[in-house]
Amino acid sequence: MLAGALNEESMRINQDRHKVLSYQMIKQLEKEFGSSFYLFDLQQLRENYHKIAAAFRSRYDNFIIGYSYKTNYLPYLCKELAGLGAYAEVVSRLEYDLAIKIGQDPKKIIFNGPLKTKEDIEYALTNESMINLDSLYEIDFVKEYCLKNSEKHVKVGLRVNYDISTDGISPLVEGYEISRFGLCLDNGSFGQAVRSLSALKNVTISGLHGHFSTSGRTVGTFQKITQGLCDIAKEYKLFSLEYIDVGGGIFGEVPKSIMKNTPSFADYAEAICQIMNKEFRQHKNKPALVLEPGISMVANTFRFAAKVVETKKIRKEQFVLAAGSAHNIKPTFHKKNLPMTILRKSKAELLRHRRESFHIVGYTCLEKDYLANSVEDIVPEREDYLVFENVGAYTIVFNPPFIKERPGIVALDGNEWFPVRKRETISEFFHDDLYCF
Ligand SMILES: *Cc1c(COP(=O)(O)O)cnc(C)c1O
Repeated sequence: MLAGALNEESMRINQDRHKVLSYQMIKQLEKEFGSSFYLFDLQQLRENYHKIAAAFRSRYDNFIIGYSYKTNYLPYLCKELAGLGAYAEVVSRLEYDLAIKIGQDPKKIIFNGPLKTKEDIEYALTNESMINLDSLYEIDFVKEYCLKNSEKHVKVGLRVNYDISTDGISPLVEGYEISRFGLCLDNGSFGQAVRSLSALKNVTISGLHGHFSTSGRTVGTFQKITQGLCDIAKEYKLFSLEYIDVGGGIFGEVPKSIMKNTPSFADYAEAICQIMNKEFRQHKNKPALVLEPGISMVANTFRFAAKVVETKKIRKEQFVLAAGSAHNIKPTFHKKNLPMTILRKSKAELLRHRRESFHIVGYTCLEKDYLANSVEDIVPEREDYLVFENVGAYTIVFNPPFIKERPGIVALDGNEWFPVRKRETISEFFHDDLYCF
């Protein structure tokens, strides 16, 4: 397998943080990975981690980053973040077991999500992981565990579902009026959970969790979330809280061409930490502030490279067929074009006359499989490479096994590169252990 140092030209990646790639390097990678693959920028990941940590820690000392596994659970990426000090925020037993497999300290796993079996809960409690209960059925499992293990002291957190609307307008994604997650404050389910747990001698409610998926990701929403959790802690006299978990959903450093004027890490940190500092000023043991970044941690750490296979005209429209699919870069099929660079076989100066509008389309048989619409540039040629930016979040975890194997993933670390996922072959795709032939 190829791995190694890059030649001088490709080392520009290192110097230019806007990640100039050379055509030559892409051709080198093509030999091992075929005509499409992801590029994973380790330095960018470390930078994101340190920026988020610094923004919050400088304002509120006791700060924990719980990286949201579901956003991108490439094992190498999870391991790198664990090494930097991140906790693992997992929402299934599969993700929990991955965290264990990469060597995460079980005490630094935050187990969230609506579905946990009795066995999952027993395992996580025995491991002393942080666990946020989402529904009342989980309380029954905790109760059983506590009665069986009366010598143990158990800590659990609760995910609360409360109103974060402003002037009656809900900030939730896709216009949802209410969220379906957590224990409802308004109808008494949360109170019931607190009472059931308080009745057990060996349980402490150690955390409150409030994650909401909003489309705006505004600073104001995070103020509501944080203040809401603090108010609930007071109202229910939860004096042993060890953490306030405000969930994920902050913007990362979004390229201007995708969206302008998104809040910075400092903007979120200032708003959230100001409330935490105000609420817990008098406390000797301030609860930890937990943030669960997903998209903001990883979106800009991945690029996707796909070879141009053909260019053709249909009536008057120019199409460029790529060895990739919208499934690889935007599984939600949103309409925005991602930032993209074209690595050309020929010098662009010689092709200036070929500037026009074109669509980039993928290998699937879906009419809607457009990687980009109406791009204005010099039309690429066969064997050029298209490199799409900002594809680290909700891509490799959403890539369906549709028509083609999953592409490989190459990590770049300074001037080094090495595979962190090989390209899938038919024997893994239709694995003998899985399928009955
Ligand atoms: C999805 C999710 C996150 C991460 O959200 P992003 O928008 O990717 O930052 C964090 N916490 C929980 C509970 C989640 O479900």
